[in-house]
Amino acid sequence: MIIVRSTAELGRALARSRELGKSIGYVPTMGALHDGHLALIQEAKRRDDVVVASIFVNPLQFGPNEDFESYPRDEETDLGLCEKVGADIAWLPTAEELFPPGFGLTVAVPRLSSVLCGQGRPTHFAGVTTEMSKILILLAPTAVYLGEKDFQQLVVMRAMVRDLGLPVEVRAVPTVREADGLALSSRNTYLSLAERPIAASLFRILTDLTTQLRTESGEVAAVLAAGRRQLIEAGVHRVEYLELVDSETLDPVPEATSGNRLVAAVRVGTTRLIDNVEV
Ligand code: AMP
Repeated sequence: MIIVRSTAELGRALARSRELGKSIGYVPTMGALHDGHLALIQEAKRRDDVVVASIFVNPLQFGPNEDFESYPRDEETDLGLCEKVGADIAWLPTAEELFPPGFGLTVAVPRLSSVLCGQGRPTHFAGVTTEMSKILILLAPTAVYLGEKDFQQLVVMRAMVRDLGLPVEVRAVPTVREADGLALSSRNTYLSLAERPIAASLFRILTDLTTQLRTESGEVAAVLAAGRRQLIEAGVHRVEYLELVDSETLDPVPEATSGNRLVAAVRVGTTRLIDNVEV
């Protein structure tokens, strides 16, 4: 595995593969890698000739009172894991190079970015799309691999790639979970021992609700209201949202149809967790 930091080094590392017309699969991450990230790298490995994984805690996607400073960072372990699952190139971009002094660009998909997570994190998705548009143009991969865990991010990214006309395929990878259903997340390390089972109740309740939505069509509002109560009873401190949405527009749907997404964000203690399940 080749480790590169600057875009010049990245360009050199990929030059021969580009000449040979090899496909390049790209996996963006913020590090603190777990099996969810590794599933993306493995899927890229399966489908593309060359796999580039990036590790970069993107400052643009954190709000002023969020966890940018305390976000878990462990470069050495992450590089070992990238190598182990077969990444060809690990790219560790620097903020200085991606966002040099005077950087004034914003790439945003405002409507899709303002709903759901966008309500509590108004600048988050513009931070993601600004960074990702720049990276996708610099790297020009064949495909970018994103997790369904961050469902809204996936929808926003698909819209960004489509609207910019970028020649990259967005490929979604299913959420990897712990044995009890908790979606793997770098932020799970913030959970205390007592909070851990409460966090797992999120997926269990979402799964129960999708079963109800499948069978009790027309009762979406009542099912969601009961779901919010169940989450609180399970020990969740706050339900930021629990909605049934169209999987492309993210608009709330009044009646459940196949392919809709049940999406949620909750607080367990001070830790914010998101998850989603397809109906
Ligand atoms: P992050 O490091 O949190 O920015 O995540 C990098 C990529 O990994 C994103 O595309 C996430 O959706 C994806 N990802 C994070 N957690 C999981 C998971 N549990 N299963 C599958 N993909 C995930």
